[in-house]
Amino acid sequence: MKFLEYNSTRDVVFILGAGASHPDGVPLQKHILPMILSKDDNEIKNSLIGSEVLKFINENFHFYPKDEVYPQLEAVFGFLDYFIQQSESLNSYYTNTKLVEVREYLIKLIHHIVNIETDKPSKYYHDFWETIIDENRNVSIITLNYDTLLEHSFVPFHKKKIGFIDYCTHLMNYEKGENLKEFNFWINPRGPIKSSEFIDPVSFKVIKVHGSLNWKYCNCCNQVLLTTWDRKIDLEHGKLIGIKYPDGEEYEYVCPIDGTELQTLIMPPSFVKNWNNPILSQLNNEASREIRIANKIVFIGYSLSNADVHIKALLKKHINDGKEICVINPKKEYELKTNYLSLNDNINFVNNSFEELVTDKTILKNLLSSD
Ligand SMILES: [Zn+2]
Repeated sequence: MKFLEYNSTRDVVFILGAGASHPDGVPLQKHILPMILSKDDNEIKNSLIGSEVLKFINENFHFYPKDEVYPQLEAVFGFLDYFIQQSESLNSYYTNTKLVEVREYLIKLIHHIVNIETDKPSKYYHDFWETIIDENRNVSIITLNYDTLLEHSFVPFHKKKIGFIDYCTHLMNYEKGENLKEFNFWINPRGPIKSSEFIDPVSFKVIKVHGSLNWKYCNCCNQVLLTTWDRKIDLEHGKLIGIKYPDGEEYEYVCPIDGTELQTLIMPPSFVKNWNNPILSQLNNEASREIRIANKIVFIGYSLSNADVHIKALLKKHINDGKEICVINPKKEYELKTNYLSLNDNINFVNNSFEELVTDKTILKNLLSSD
C-alpha cells in the first residue's frame, strides 16, 4: 500500500468553461432557456416541473421565440433569488415557499437538458487527457461545467492503471458499511492505494466549482454520494432516479446513511450567488489553493462573463504577478479580452477552439511544458 502525494507547486492549472464541452453537444448557457421555452419539447411542457417553470417565466418575463429573443437565465434566477434572500413573496400564488420550489424545478430542468448529450464518451476530452498523461502529469483541472464528459473520458486511463480522479471532497462512497457496499466502486485517491495494481499511479484534482450532474447531496449529513452514471431526473415528480443493474428497474435515491431525500448539487447561473452549500464553498477554497500554487493558468472555452463575479473574485485574489496566463478561445471579441485584461495585463490570447487545441497537439504540448 502507498499514499499518493501532490507536488507543492502545480505546473499547469486548466480552467474549463462551456466551450470545452460544447463540441460534444452540451448546450451553452444561452441555449438552455430557449430549449425549455421552445414549444416543441412536449416532454418538458407536459411534465409537472416543466409546466410550473413555464408558467412562472410566462407570467414574469416577456419573450419572442419567433425572433429568438429570450430572457437571460441569470435574470430568471436573479429574480427568484431576490425574493428568496429577502424572504418575500411575489403574490398570493408565488409565496416564498413556492418560489423556492420553482427555483429547484428550474435547476432540475437544467440538469435534465445538460444531461441529454452527455451519455457518451468524448473524443476531445479523451485526447486532452492523453496529451496530459504523456507530457506532464503535474496538472490540475478546475471546471465550471456540470456535465461528466471529462471524467467519463478518463475511464480508459483508469483501466490502464494510470491513476485516479480526485474530486477534492469527501464522498460517501469512501465509507465502508453494508448500506454503502454497492457505492464503494470509487477509490479514494487520498487514502492508501494498492501499489501492486498500479505502476507509478497519479491522481488528478478535478475541481467542479459549480457542482456536477453525478453528485447527489444530502442536506442532513452534508455529504455527497457519487452515482457515476446515474444522472436521470423524473420530470413528473422532480426526483433523482437510480437504475438497478442488470434489470433496469428505476428507483428514487435517498441517502444510504440517513434515508433523507437526495438533492441536486449544481450552482445555477444567477446575478445573485450564494456559497451556502458547504461542499461548493470547500471546492472554492481548494480551487483558490490550486490557483495560488500554479505556475501557469490556462483558460479554455471560458468567457469570464459578468455573471461570474465569484470566479473573478477568486482569480483576482489568487493570481499574483509571476504567473503565466493563457486564454484559449476562438472568439475574437473585444469584450472577452477586456474581461481577462482586468485580471492581469500580461495575458497570452490564443485564437483556437478546444477541438483545435486537442487535435493539433503542438499548442497543448507547449502549454504543458514546464520550462
Ligand atoms: Zn445523509
